[in-house]
Amino acid sequence: MRNKRIAVAFLVILMVGTLALPVFARVPTCPECDNGELWPDETEYLSWKTVYYIACDKNPRYKDAVQERIVRESWTCNNCGISDVRVSTESRIVCGH
Ligand SMILES: [Zn+2]
Ligand SMILES: [Zn+2]
Repeated sequence: MRNKRIAVAFLVILMVGTLALPVFARVPTCPECDNGELWPDETEYLSWKTVYYIACDKNPRYKDAVQERIVRESWTCNNCGISDVRVSTESRIVCGH
């Protein structure tokens, strides 16, 4: 009887643990071998480029630049060694006022 109760308590802890896990940074699983984890290798940031202008937050008479840059992240699987590159875009608003 006692053992069963302990087992249930353990199961609850396990469930809470799995639920809380996605909140933290989880390493993506390898799509190739389905067994390894993809670890970030190297991140390359391309230079910021102005894409358009918007009215300044502080003074609408001025314009702020909206800039974008391309981020290239390479990943390598710790099991099969396959590597993958993911490209994403970051943006920022440049205000000099
Ligand atoms: Zn792999
Ligand atoms: Zn501004």
